[in-house]
Amino acid sequence: MVKGTPSMGKKSGKKNMIRCRRCGKRTYHIRKKKCASCGYGESSRLRKYNWQKKK
Ligand SMILES: [Zn+2]
Repeated sequence: MVKGTPSMGKKSGKKNMIRCRRCGKRTYHIRKKKCASCGYGESSRLRKYNWQKKK
């Protein structure tokens, strides 16, 4: 097991995350059908937690 940047090369092939149409990030999970970043597909509101830093 290699942690860090070199192991990112093994992430090729199956893709679970595609670009989210709401936030534009590549955080939309195809199988779960929801965005990990903004919660698109999960809720109509933006996914938000109070431990997230406002900026
Ligand atoms: Zn999103």
